[in-house]
Amino acid sequence: MAEPSLFEPRGDFVGGRFALPEHADGEIAALDPGDTRAPLGEFPFAVSSVDHAIDTARRAWPAWRDADPGARAAALQRFRAALQAEQERLAAVIAREVGKPVWEARTEVAAMLGKIEITLAEGLALVADRAFELGAGQVGRWRAAARGVFGVLGPFNFPGHLMHGHIVPALATGNCVVVKPSERTPATGQLYAELVQRAAFPAGVANVLQGDATVGARLASHPALDGVLFTGSYSVGRRILEATLDQPWKLVALEMGGKNGALVCADADLDAAAHAIAFGACVTSGQRCSATSRVFAERAVADALCEKLAILFRGIAIGHSSEPDAFMGPVISRGARERHAQVLAWAAADGAETLVAGGPADGPRPGHYVRPSLHRLRGTSPGSRYQSEEHFVPDAFVVAVDSVDAGLAALDATDFGLVASVFTRSRATYERATREVRVGCVNWNAPTVGASSKLPFGGVKRSGNDRAAAAASTLYTTIPQANLEVAAPGPPAKYPGFPSLS
Ligand code: NAD
Repeated sequence: MAEPSLFEPRGDFVGGRFALPEHADGEIAALDPGDTRAPLGEFPFAVSSVDHAIDTARRAWPAWRDADPGARAAALQRFRAALQAEQERLAAVIAREVGKPVWEARTEVAAMLGKIEITLAEGLALVADRAFELGAGQVGRWRAAARGVFGVLGPFNFPGHLMHGHIVPALATGNCVVVKPSERTPATGQLYAELVQRAAFPAGVANVLQGDATVGARLASHPALDGVLFTGSYSVGRRILEATLDQPWKLVALEMGGKNGALVCADADLDAAAHAIAFGACVTSGQRCSATSRVFAERAVADALCEKLAILFRGIAIGHSSEPDAFMGPVISRGARERHAQVLAWAAADGAETLVAGGPADGPRPGHYVRPSLHRLRGTSPGSRYQSEEHFVPDAFVVAVDSVDAGLAALDATDFGLVASVFTRSRATYERATREVRVGCVNWNAPTVGASSKLPFGGVKRSGNDRAAAAASTLYTTIPQANLEVAAPGPPAKYPGFPSLS
């Protein structure tokens, strides 16, 4: 499946061309977490590339900002065509580097194609100029002005879609970008850069750098940047906020982690709820910001729900990303696999009953394979690491609650605020959840991992800083600029005590 050129390093893509760093600070490895026998490739990086890339983007910005919106849209359509032509290769490299099955990587690439269409239609419509007659010959115009140059930092779990989700709206609204993909997915980053090159954006408009956290830190804190568009963990998001405290001009959009909950009410369709919860906990091997990890069930249905969930968790097929019948690949790294063992220990320390004993497991090849785990808790315990932290492994716990009120309160009782799902036949209960649970997304009879690029996607509390992405991204890639327009000035207004020329 792997094409050797995917893993042959070409260096940073800056100013419309690839170049390997003259003096590399290090190398990042492309690895297959589902077959760790040999690295796939080594990609050198240099922290100093950040300065060069930002300088290049700054010089490209005025012309891109002032370009006809039709010309920007045409460039993005060329980019879409390049992505479409290479969608199978892109899905293959994403699957290989992340370990997710190819069927799932294909859905990621499909979302990337959709992102361009949605941005050019709904995204730009959201920030279209608005004009108001203000009287006395004045027109007020509300205009969305480009901000300048954005740094974009991507996570490993959706190595194409999530950085792309920031890049496309930034470019469509007249900004330039310097992108750093995850250090765990350099080959995906390089192929993405090749497709940017094929789209023939004006040189310097879109730049892609290889690198680890040191490159990310330099990029995020660079004083010549107008904004940072970040998707990743809370701990790194927090570091970016700290690093930019003295740069108030910077727009910092943080899309961070989750500890997402599902509430199953006594009137729910239990089979449908169980499917949605098991899917939400195990897809991408639990490595989604929107993964389901906390389940609250009304007491009357808790036993039955646990039985159904246990059947599904046990039946999940594990395999290498290339196996067509695998639902779940490995987790990303040895550290993530060890974390799953740690999570099981924390669950045991909370007195959890093991419904499905998952954790590190043998896979079809030497790699970071795990099996999904499922627990039942008698009650919640504040301060528990098991119950409060994002683990990013396929694990969930179920707790019985005495009422819908208690279930809604439990959904809300977390430091994170990304997604909550409510399984019930009652629209009124679901509507209550939209008001009472402090999250960016509330799903009704749909998994926590359900999302649409036609809607906003973002979180509150530790999940985000109120800059919802997806369909809402163009709102933060632009500055709301106010214009007072007087096309044909009449006689000046007269004020008491103010002199006149006439
Ligand atoms: P991560 O935070 O470890 O890394 C994300 C990016 O930040 C990488 O490119 C990394 O190199 C860079 N980085 C690291 N240190 C940095 C620093 N000091 N300054 C600037 N950049 C730095 O995240 P990950 O492990 O790749 O991804 C998993 C996390 O991402 C999870 O917490 C998950 O919930 C979150 N996530 C959130 C969303 C969302 O939309 N809210 C989507 C996907 C993933």
